[in-house]
Amino acid sequence: MKNVTILKGQIVFTKEPEAFEIHTNSFLIAVEGVIEGIYKKLPEKYRDCLIYDYGNNIIIPGFVDLHLHAAQYPQCGMGMTKQLLDWLGDYTFDLEKEFQDPDFAKEVYTSFVDKLVACGTLRACIFASTSTTGTEQLFEVCKKKGIGAYVGKVNMDRNGPDFILESTTDSLNGTRYLLEKYGDEKLVKPIVTPRFAPTSSKKLLEGLGKLAQTYNAPVQSHLSENRDEIQWVSELFENAKSYADVYFMNNLFGQTKTLMAHGIYLQKTEINTIQEHNLILVHCPDSNINLRSGIMPVRKYLDLGLKVGLGSDIAGGHKIALNEAMVRAIQLSKILSTEDEGPDALTVSEVFYSATKLGGSFFGKVGSFEKGYSLDALVLKDELFVAKRYSLEDRLEKFIYTGDDRNIQARFVEGTLIE
Ligand SMILES: [Zn+2]
Repeated sequence: MKNVTILKGQIVFTKEPEAFEIHTNSFLIAVEGVIEGIYKKLPEKYRDCLIYDYGNNIIIPGFVDLHLHAAQYPQCGMGMTKQLLDWLGDYTFDLEKEFQDPDFAKEVYTSFVDKLVACGTLRACIFASTSTTGTEQLFEVCKKKGIGAYVGKVNMDRNGPDFILESTTDSLNGTRYLLEKYGDEKLVKPIVTPRFAPTSSKKLLEGLGKLAQTYNAPVQSHLSENRDEIQWVSELFENAKSYADVYFMNNLFGQTKTLMAHGIYLQKTEINTIQEHNLILVHCPDSNINLRSGIMPVRKYLDLGLKVGLGSDIAGGHKIALNEAMVRAIQLSKILSTEDEGPDALTVSEVFYSATKLGGSFFGKVGSFEKGYSLDALVLKDELFVAKRYSLEDRLEKFIYTGDDRNIQARFVEGTLIE
């Protein structure tokens, strides 16, 4: 008998960003973790299968966080008066060096992953630290929990304090080791992760690009987050035409599947390259506010056809729950919309789509309940007096704006219940 998962309840997801697709009182059925279909009436052949019946509760796709730093989890909500470069120097590097200790790494990463999953994020693209052994702990914790993740050992070989910098060779060897060790994993996979251009030598970027190509591995990094940072990059890489070009010249910008966090201040040529090479930009609104980086012109990017996912960017962002990032993305877009002839604000279904189907596309068929997608799901529970009175869309909006881990009743990844 094949492995069948059947969830019954009020099913809501976004096939397109413009609107929610709603199936009331329906059966969501997956075989071997892959969605078969949504049915009003249970097909005869599934009659003897176990049914998770969630009654009037809402079932949505699990959230996909495309950008966060597991090694910064302990410093969430600290140093928030600083801007990016000072914040890294005064808080982050000092903490990240501790992850050379595997016991410390395991303790923090366990707590981090537990919280992440509690809040409904079932897939994530995660920066660890420069420590290879520390990063192995994060792989193991994610595997044990049963979530989907891309985990990156951070690479940096210059412009940081000595206690955290690696030699170029050690840095490349660490990444190669993880690509070899975890490359064939099903759910938790390695990703090439230069911290960002300024902390990378030309040789390191070149080597990482080669590794990405050799192993056909994805890439994640930061791009154009802060004006001082952009200026610094132009001084460090005089031959590059732009910030994006620093990565592009080294095969780290779309030559394999690529995520770039932020991208607030992009030039026309950079936008063209992003379009041509199908990159995903990751909007991290809390982080952009906290570090006073700026506001990403999301509507403008969407109108140009760019793909924009969402990230909590722990710990530039202070809240790990992705529904918080959805709210902040809407709020920032409302600020931009108040300018003369400002763009339309983002809608709830648009940010939900970013946090589910768009983000999920980095993992394959993830983030929707269409046939062929992975059954990654959250079951939401709300108060009876709310559930009775309001529409499913109102109830979901309320969860996004005010809900937290206590409002999530169950979580499934590839059809398996996560404990
Ligand atoms: Zn980041």
